[in-house]
Amino acid sequence: MCTECNYGSCPDLININVPGLFGSNVFNEKIMKERLPKETYKALKKTIEMGASLQPETAAVVANAMKDWAIEKGATHYTHWFQPLTGSTAEKHDSFIAPTLDGSVIMEFSGKQLIQGEPDASSFPSGGLRATFEARGYTAWDCTSPAFLKEDAAGNVTLCIPTAFCSYKGEALDKKTPLLRSMAAVSTQSLRVLKALGNDTSSRVTSTVGSEQEYFLVEKEYYLNRLDLLTCGRTLFGAPAPKGQELEDQYFGSIKDRVSAFMKDLDIELWKMGITSKTKHNEVAPAQYEMAPVFATTNIAADHNQLVMETMQKVALRHGMVCLLHEKPYAGVNGSGKHNNWSLSTDDGINLLEPGTTPEDNAQFLVFLCALLKAVDSHADIMRATCGSSGNDHRLGANEAPPAIISVFLGDELSDILFNLAKGEKAPKKGDAFLKIGVDTLPELPKDNTDRNRTSPFAFTGNKFEFRMVGSSQSISGPNVALNTIAAEALDEIATRLEKSKDINAEILNIIKDTVKNHEKIIFNGNNYSPDWEKEAGKRGLPNTKTTVDALKSFITPKALKLFAKYNVLSKEELHSRYDIYTEQFSKHINIEAQTAMQMVRRLYFPAAIRYMTELGNSMAVAGKSASVQKELLESIGNLLTSANKKLKKLEEETIKSQAIDKVEKQAVAFRDKVRPCLNDLRADIDAIEVLMPSDLWPVPVYSDMLFKL
Ligand code: ADP
Ligand code: MG
Repeated sequence: MCTECNYGSCPDLININVPGLFGSNVFNEKIMKERLPKETYKALKKTIEMGASLQPETAAVVANAMKDWAIEKGATHYTHWFQPLTGSTAEKHDSFIAPTLDGSVIMEFSGKQLIQGEPDASSFPSGGLRATFEARGYTAWDCTSPAFLKEDAAGNVTLCIPTAFCSYKGEALDKKTPLLRSMAAVSTQSLRVLKALGNDTSSRVTSTVGSEQEYFLVEKEYYLNRLDLLTCGRTLFGAPAPKGQELEDQYFGSIKDRVSAFMKDLDIELWKMGITSKTKHNEVAPAQYEMAPVFATTNIAADHNQLVMETMQKVALRHGMVCLLHEKPYAGVNGSGKHNNWSLSTDDGINLLEPGTTPEDNAQFLVFLCALLKAVDSHADIMRATCGSSGNDHRLGANEAPPAIISVFLGDELSDILFNLAKGEKAPKKGDAFLKIGVDTLPELPKDNTDRNRTSPFAFTGNKFEFRMVGSSQSISGPNVALNTIAAEALDEIATRLEKSKDINAEILNIIKDTVKNHEKIIFNGNNYSPDWEKEAGKRGLPNTKTTVDALKSFITPKALKLFAKYNVLSKEELHSRYDIYTEQFSKHINIEAQTAMQMVRRLYFPAAIRYMTELGNSMAVAGKSASVQKELLESIGNLLTSANKKLKKLEEETIKSQAIDKVEKQAVAFRDKVRPCLNDLRADIDAIEVLMPSDLWPVPVYSDMLFKL
């Protein structure tokens, strides 16, 4: 980092030493090895890898080493960094200072301060889990995600301790706690399967995730002049620009210098925090981009994704731009998602979703593949629910991909292999021998080919599954809690079968047969965007839940309560609280949109239109008979204003009515069915006025400004 200006990409820093920079703000393995006494290091490693409980003496030594390291790097404060159910992150900074008797201070950080914190958490959503009179939740160190330093442009350096956030009774109040629990569940069940298959070398299985993050950039000045972007993160109004994404010239297009400068800075900031930013490119819509890191253990990937979103926003501001993470900032062009690439990996480096080259590997691969098919088919509704948000409603099931129907893409080759195995038939391709589990190897599968299906919400991409429904602004924890837990359940059942069987290969074949018989309906290799698929999926009985309000109910079905309780991931109370919070969040978001729309119409659009009408009226007085254009415009705008005014009143009325409903679900239904349509109706009139108005009188930046002027 440049010591003059504190910025990673100060122009003075022409050559970046990436390996030197990478992880320089992380209390990582290397630093721990250097700075911790051997015994402490070993004990900590044992806790990290095996979940052994951490002794207070060890914590004290680690805390001290962490503090010294952080202070050397300029830190004055530390924070327990956590992820409440708002979906963003929370931090409260405490300085290291401790006063001494002589009036001076020393810098202190105890083991207890490292392990546990007690933020006054009364203002975080708890969904009734924590009454305000017992407001204190506590934060507990997640030592499996390394501590790191956060720097800001003002030069503050803060030691961040990743933590889980729970109530005093131990109920999860955050996104991390269930994620860690689900990781434990999927590890346990995977190991049982591996053991039954004869693998004795692996002692831990972790789910791995690489999440591709899509985002938009917009000129800061435009952003500040759009109340809707400021308060809702998306435009509530705006006529389409003359050009959208139809020329397909943005995707993978050459990156503009200004954006490139931002991306470079972003990389530097992410690399410092040990985030493996790997791929960057232009996305489909104008002013839309993507960043993908190299995959990591799920809880680290989730922590990192939160930091990615935060850092994108901070770095964009330094470049005079604003980063929009909303799922649908602009109507008429693509919205943003997050592709959640997921797999399972053993501690000795085996990717369990990698088709192997030996018969044993194949058997293992096929078993895990079957588990996933079963899991997804049995709990498609839960997966869908984890992607529900008011923002994502504009993508899923609306006019945009991916559809709200969950299906699995396997590709023709793999599907054929599976179906033929189930039928006990030859593989279809000429020359292919009869495939015998435990004896033969799989034919080579096409890996990650570029023309693979990009329309599937859950696609097998060679050695992992890609869950594409996730919204761009949401935490990836929820979707991965679901994936881990549903996988755990399916693996549990398979493990039991394998453990009981006398002939493993025969049992694997039976598992494949049963999976195909019971879950074939979840496999779809065609075009998920076509209307035919919706019909076909309906015939197959696959759920097609188009709105968040309906989708969220899948969190509290008897099936979901049983599943999450069985694997100790979320209790009944925890699920109900989450359901309430997310449903309420939906209502709150639509309410903010309604308030914003009303303000913009009253304070910006109506006054502008009325001013123009006055101008037109004056001009008519001057022009007399030849004022036909003025007359026409005046009439059109006048009519639209009258209509908009009616719709504005209706919006106001419905909003007030919805606000008064006290049942969480009923209120969300009202916001969805009554308020949201009013918002869309009002928008139609305002957008129609916009195209008739002179640009100098239009009070806000328009789509062509926001999408093309960067
Ligand atoms: P796409 O073709 O979908 O744009 P990218 O190459 O941009 O794919 O991203 C693929 C993502 O998948 C990367 O984040 C990559 O690290 C991740 N990935 C690769 N292997 C695994 C794995 N075994 N587990 C989880 N994620 C993985
Ligand atoms: Mg992708």
